[in-house]
Formats: sequence, C-alpha cells, structure tokens
Amino acid sequence: MISMPDRIPTVKKTESVLQTKNLNVYYGDALALRNINLEIPKNNITAFIGPSGCGKSTLLRCFNRLNDRIENFRLKGSVSYYQQNLYDSGVDPVAIRRRIGMVFQKPNPLPMSIYENIAFGPKSIGLKKNLDELVERSLIQVDLWKEVKNRLRKSALILSRGQQQRLCIARTLAVQPEAILMDEPCSALDPISTLTLEEILQELKQHYTIVLVTHNMQQASRLSDMTAFFNVEFSENHRRVGYLVEYDETPMIFLNPAQSLTRQYIRGRFG
Ligand code: ADP
Repeated sequence: MISMPDRIPTVKKTESVLQTKNLNVYYGDALALRNINLEIPKNNITAFIGPSGCGKSTLLRCFNRLNDRIENFRLKGSVSYYQQNLYDSGVDPVAIRRRIGMVFQKPNPLPMSIYENIAFGPKSIGLKKNLDELVERSLIQVDLWKEVKNRLRKSALILSRGQQQRLCIARTLAVQPEAILMDEPCSALDPISTLTLEEILQELKQHYTIVLVTHNMQQASRLSDMTAFFNVEFSENHRRVGYLVEYDETPMIFLNPAQSLTRQYIRGRFG
C-alpha cells in the first residue's frame, strides 16, 4: 500500500486577486473551456498544468483580456479582478493589461536598446520622471542589472535568450503591475537559465501575484504554491473541451491528489 505524505502547506493565506465564476469560453460556436471556477491568491505562484489543448493559455489570456484580439472569441460567466468583472462594459482592456502583465513563451524584446525596452512602457503611459531609476530598479528585480549596466544603450537583441526573457519580465514590471501572467516562460530556455528565472520568480512573488502555464511538471511542483490541473474531453460533436479537474495547494496535487485522473497525469500516464 502506498502511504501518502502529510499535507505540507506552502500557500500564504491571502485574498484572491483574480477569480472566475462559471466561466465558459468559446471560439466561434466551439466550447473550448467548460465551467471554470477558481480563485488566484495574492502574492503566490499558481501553475496551470494539463495536456496540450486543454485551454491553459486560453484561460490565462482571459485574465488580461488578451483574447479580445481573437475575432471569434467569446465567453459566458465572469472573470474578476478583485470585485470588478473584467468583461463589464466600460472596463478598459489597456488599463487592465497595465495592472495584469503578460510574459510570453518566446522572449520578444523590442528591436531597440536595453534601456529603451524597459523605458518604452512607462513612457507610453506618461511615467516620464525618474526613468533611469525605474529602469535600474526593474533590471535589478530580474537580476539583470549587473550584467547589462555598462551596455544599456546596446541593442537588446545581443542578449542571450535567458537574458532576453528576464528583460521582458523587467519590461512588464516597469509599468508597475500587480499580477503577472506567464505562458510557458521557460520553454525556450536552457536548464541554467530556467533555474535562474525560477529563483527570480520566487523573489517576485513577495510583491506580485504570478500565474504560470507550464508543461514542465517538475517546474510546477518546485515553483508553484497552487496548481490547477486541466484535462480535455470530447463533446457530443467530437470537439475538444477543456475543464478543471482539480485545484489545490501544489503539495496536495503532487503528493496526495483527490482525483485519480490527477494522479495518473502527474505520473505521466497520459498527456
Ligand atoms: P493549451 O494552452 O492548454 O495547449 P489552448 O488554450 O492553446 O490550450 O487551446 C485550447 C483549445 O482552444 C484548443 O482546442 C485550441 O485548438 C483552441 N483554440 C486556441 N486558440 C484558438 C483560436 N485563436 N481560434 C480557435 N480555436 C482556438
């Protein structure tokens, strides 16, 4: 008989920053995500895991209205930032994206200098004072300052991939968000750069709420406080529909999940 370890809580009991209620997401008439109910706690790292196509990225993008750019996207139910439904009429998606930043899978620095990459966002929202300090502070937060302080005016494109990804995170931090959404931020990085980034995220969660999509189960288990496991099933008309199987503190998901499907997935039985 397998004995299960005791629960080891890591999550800080905090208020929830983001919340979905009875959320259904559609692309055209195809349901992509079914009835998602979850709350993202403040100043923690929450990981989304699950097989490809189960809707992790779709859900992540709902949190800062990035799907609005997809023509046939629509949703039912609610996605709230504190008590504000982000999809209410009158809510400005640009303002949301400032509060809730996004970091993508592939580092995407702008074709300009290291300095300008960081200063660009603040300048575009009118934060023009003390830019030098803001750039320095943002680069320090991602542990990049020492590496680039003598070449701030050089192109960001000369940096390594790991450095570019840290630069992109610094760029997100420079507009002073509260939450950061990350869609597989390490999947284009080597193992050392990945570990460096994970250490930085552990520091950043003191000040920011982080939601992370990852295919890397080890990463979810060592880095996150909360883990949401999603799966896909087939609808009556044979379309793939994602749903939330289980959401709990990460040690529970990895050591003592409530659902046998979760256990099978984390043991690599499918997906
Ligand atoms: P995951 O991140 O878990 O791999 P995605 O969120 O990328 O899953 O995709 C969930 C489902 O939504 C998939 O069936 C995918 O084909 C579909 N999908 C994603 N983006 C679009 C889009 N722009 N248009 C239509 N269908 C989409």
